[in-house]
Amino acid sequence: MSGPTVKAGASPALSPAGPVRTAGGAVLLDGKAVAAKVRAAVASRAAAFAARHGRRPGLAVVQVGEDPASSVYVRNKRSSSQEAGIESFAHDLPVSTGEGRILALINALNHDERVDGILVQLPLPAGVDTNRVMDAVDPAKDVDGFHPVNTGLLAQKRPRLRPCTPFGVIRLAQEYGLALPGLRATVVGASNIVGRPMALELLLARATVTVCHTGTRDLRAEVERAELLVAAVGKAGFIPGDWIRPGAAVFDVGINRSASGKLVGDVEFERAAERAGWITPVPGGLGPMTIAMLLSNAVDAAYLRTGTPV
Ligand code: NAD
Repeated sequence: MSGPTVKAGASPALSPAGPVRTAGGAVLLDGKAVAAKVRAAVASRAAAFAARHGRRPGLAVVQVGEDPASSVYVRNKRSSSQEAGIESFAHDLPVSTGEGRILALINALNHDERVDGILVQLPLPAGVDTNRVMDAVDPAKDVDGFHPVNTGLLAQKRPRLRPCTPFGVIRLAQEYGLALPGLRATVVGASNIVGRPMALELLLARATVTVCHTGTRDLRAEVERAELLVAAVGKAGFIPGDWIRPGAAVFDVGINRSASGKLVGDVEFERAAERAGWITPVPGGLGPMTIAMLLSNAVDAAYLRTGTPV
């Protein structure tokens, strides 16, 4: 196997002491620090919007039922919005809410001029058609970037509102100066919300992209080839550290509870960090980046909808 080919510029302004390294020597891709930087930029754009329009950008967050993990995410999204100067509209519906009522709420939010972004927390309760609900969101207010129109625009190289986690991977890579064009990038996971849009983002960034899923024949060989790896499977420590190509950049999207109750990613972190050139921690990697990109999308949506130059 040839040596590592990932190239990076200097890691800017995150810390005067330079990037933090793991015990294994990999640069830790500090999602928390980069997310704080993104949120600060969002806050100043939100303030400029408010000064010009006499109202803050508005984000409606819809939760149906009380799934405990969803409730944590929703609380976090609402408080982060407020801190960034985005008005948060909370819509908490009981688990028994029928699809018709959810669709009626989405329709009302689509027509509410104070609302620039609509986020529907997934998963929706069993019996509700998730695709029908997501398709009902006005694409101009689709801050999750899950609407087929926004996914389609990304596929056609003209992104508008971009899915937050994949967009967060790209933003984090940019912050650390990782040169993506030409890189051999592998995405493990092919879901509509992470794996697929991740592949489209990497393609847009001119990487050479492979997508792995349950139909992949030799996952190990695919991972071993990857100069940049994104893991989005949802299984604790699913990718053994010794599969990581020396010098690779590893982005671990997975958020799982280990047997001992710890939050862990999809990649076996300690062993991977001995081989990787760059690696995201879990927690503190793509979790905070995802929320930051959501806020960024909400402000973008406000500017785009009102025809204000972004
Ligand atoms: P998903 O279950 O919808 O998709 C998982 C994907 O993994 C599927 O495409 C499947 O084909 C693939 N897969 C499963 N087993 C495999 C195997 N043995 N070999 C190869 N591929 C396999 O999950 P998702 O919604 O894409 O989320 C993935 C993970 O990312 C979860 O842990 C989730 O919690 C996490 N997540 C994190 C954030 C964040 O903010 N950091 C955001 C979204 C999702």
